[in-house]
Amino acid sequence: MTGGPISVAGVVVEPGERRDLAPLASESYTGDRTTLPMAVINGIEDGPRVFVTAAVHGDELNGIETCRRLLDAVDPLGVAGSLVVVPIVNVLGVQFGSRYLPDRRDLNRSFPGSHSGSMAARIARLLTEEVITGSDAGIDLHTAANHRTNVPQVRIAEDPRALPLATTFGAPFVMRAKLRPGSLRAVALEQDVPVLTYEGGQPLRFDADAIDVALRGIQRVLARMEMIDHAPEPAAAEPMVLDASRWLRAARGGVLELHVEPGDRVQAGQPLWTTSSPMGGAERASIDAEEEGYVIGATTLPLVQPGQAVLHVALPGEHLPSEDDPTEEEDEDDPDMTEGT
Ligand SMILES: [Zn+2]
Repeated sequence: MTGGPISVAGVVVEPGERRDLAPLASESYTGDRTTLPMAVINGIEDGPRVFVTAAVHGDELNGIETCRRLLDAVDPLGVAGSLVVVPIVNVLGVQFGSRYLPDRRDLNRSFPGSHSGSMAARIARLLTEEVITGSDAGIDLHTAANHRTNVPQVRIAEDPRALPLATTFGAPFVMRAKLRPGSLRAVALEQDVPVLTYEGGQPLRFDADAIDVALRGIQRVLARMEMIDHAPEPAAAEPMVLDASRWLRAARGGVLELHVEPGDRVQAGQPLWTTSSPMGGAERASIDAEEEGYVIGATTLPLVQPGQAVLHVALPGEHLPSEDDPTEEEDEDDPDMTEGT
């Protein structure tokens, strides 16, 4: 069935048309207009509405390149339904290579936002009202936080619609992760919109593998939703679907030597890293894996201090943390940040 025109941020996009919009989000310190550039692709045929967002954290750049390649690959005449792509959500953070807004607010804790709130709240409000609301699904592209890297993985809420989309995406891991209040994914779910949060690579870098996995994943999801005809072959291996993970932390400070790589499967008793004194001499400490798991994230720093998060390990099977488990309060995005500040 032929689709009709759609309207985003007051702009009408006809079937078979792509329009690039830049609705006003707020004003900068200098009084300049702060806009939220986005591409709206309205297919000829009727179908679902899907959004793709990137750089909600302004130092997480892989998704920007993923969006650029996606937009070059999608022909509006070959789409059923509509696709809204926002390559840079945190337009101010990207200017400075910063995860946060200039006032240190985390945009991904600022949803659904408001008309009269902080800059983060205003950008979040615009994205919520014009892009998230009314969509059938969304894909939000991230990388690990500062000085860390993530193995390509999709994080989803406990939502039966999200799991098949996440496995179709084809990243090596699917994590059913707790929803963070004020995150894009949490607010979208409140509006009944399932969102896949993709994590891959490290900040301030283009990671070719993480970008490729993301682009192929988005195309597979669009094909599964019958929005495009052609998609890459399914991933070679079924993703591992995991419900629990925890950060393993250094007990001693010093020079870090990792004995495993991101993506590795680790067995109970396997040495994971060694911390040595900068003065040389004997090994200070060796941390062993306590249980079986998969390394889904790791520090990229060569030195560690006590308590620093070194490896993010996903745990298969029943590992739901108890209520008084301190790891429950960890922010998996940024485990060295104190939550709520
Ligand atoms: Zn992020």
